[in-house]
Amino acid sequence: MLGLFRPRAYYDRLALLDLAELERLGYRALLFDVDNTITTWNSPDIAPEVVAWFAALADSNLQGCIISNNSAERLRPLAEQLGLQFVSKARKPLPVGYKRAMRLLGVEQRQTLMIGDQLLTDILGANLAGVDSVLLKPISLAKEFRWTYVNRRIERLIIKPVLQNVPHNRF
Ligand SMILES: [Mg+2]
Repeated sequence: MLGLFRPRAYYDRLALLDLAELERLGYRALLFDVDNTITTWNSPDIAPEVVAWFAALADSNLQGCIISNNSAERLRPLAEQLGLQFVSKARKPLPVGYKRAMRLLGVEQRQTLMIGDQLLTDILGANLAGVDSVLLKPISLAKEFRWTYVNRRIERLIIKPVLQNVPHNRF
């Protein structure tokens, strides 16, 4: 049961992920959550190290797609700025948005890695869709969507056993 919430690795920051290593591991596509993964909640601001990391992604052989439960109005400017495709209203943790993203990028499950900050949406959805995932430490918990507060409470109860033996800042 807890295995459904288990990511392949746990990282403190997005910029610590080594793109060359992800390619070596056989990934061809990265799927990204937005809120608290790329930016703070409902904010258009992206940290300089994150902007630089996405510039390196654009120069790599990896493709990128945002998948978020947020609206297209919120996602489009971010996707355009970072050179990513996007799937809005993805209804994570349902697998439907992950499958749409993989179709959009023309990749298979085993070539895909989901990156997000929530066990109950990003990571659960990745496991239900049959794709590997990386859990990121949320950028800031100061302000979040009101339902996320409920998810975080459940997350706090399970995160210790879930992350036991999960590699930290490495694969
Ligand atoms: Mg998030």
